[in-house]
Amino acid sequence: MRILITNDDGIRAEGLQALALAASHFGRVKVAAPDRERSACGHSMTMREPLRVHATNFGPGKLGEIEAYEVSGVPVDCVNVGLTIAWPEGCDLVLSGFNHGPNLGFDVTYSGTVAGAMEGAVNGIRSIAFSMANFIPGSPLHFETGMRWVEENLAPLLEFPLPARTFFNVNVPCVDWHDLRGTKVAPTAARVYEDRVEMRHDPWGRPYYWQGGKVVNDADQSGTDLDAIAEGFASVSVLSLDWTDRAANAELEKRLSDATAVHQS
Ligand code: MN
Repeated sequence: MRILITNDDGIRAEGLQALALAASHFGRVKVAAPDRERSACGHSMTMREPLRVHATNFGPGKLGEIEAYEVSGVPVDCVNVGLTIAWPEGCDLVLSGFNHGPNLGFDVTYSGTVAGAMEGAVNGIRSIAFSMANFIPGSPLHFETGMRWVEENLAPLLEFPLPARTFFNVNVPCVDWHDLRGTKVAPTAARVYEDRVEMRHDPWGRPYYWQGGKVVNDADQSGTDLDAIAEGFASVSVLSLDWTDRAANAELEKRLSDATAVHQS
């Protein structure tokens, strides 16, 4: 199996190297990843400047043999560059991660990690985003648990009859393997932010703005990916490139055609 790995934390991130090691049990791994951290870049791509690509390697050790490319772009760029130069003959699987932090609920729309898998799906390739879901900055990410999750759970994801233009989003709680309670398939939670923009002042008294904000979860999160992680389970969701709300679209069409009928009467 031919595997392309990317991430949004940069090619030197520990999470990417952990995922590459775990994936190497399943096939031949090649890496195309950003030259620096590009978290929260979403499904953006670089169009107004050239992409520079440098062949690199992970030095001595188990990862030393892996063909790797450092790209001056975001995960979408890395997947497309990787498919062009690392796997010109085609690739069977795109993996993105392990992200250093969770990608749950609506945060999947901001995530560069998820976007890497999304771009694999755009290219018609089975794709999976992986994130280590710690909520306290600086707390241990437990990549060893993520690696073991991949080793024990990747096979069914590879065999699953995944519909066209869909992909998997996996979050693994940052706990010891023996504390992991299992895996739940779950929809993404409703999770938004309030007080998103904070105004501060620079040493010259000029205001600047910093985005962050407090996360606000919908009151009932039962059965969601967020709930699974909170309960100590890994979560898996099948996400779709098709963002259309078909029921609302049908209702809108009905109302617009009624309104048109009124104009015509
Ligand atoms: Mn990241």
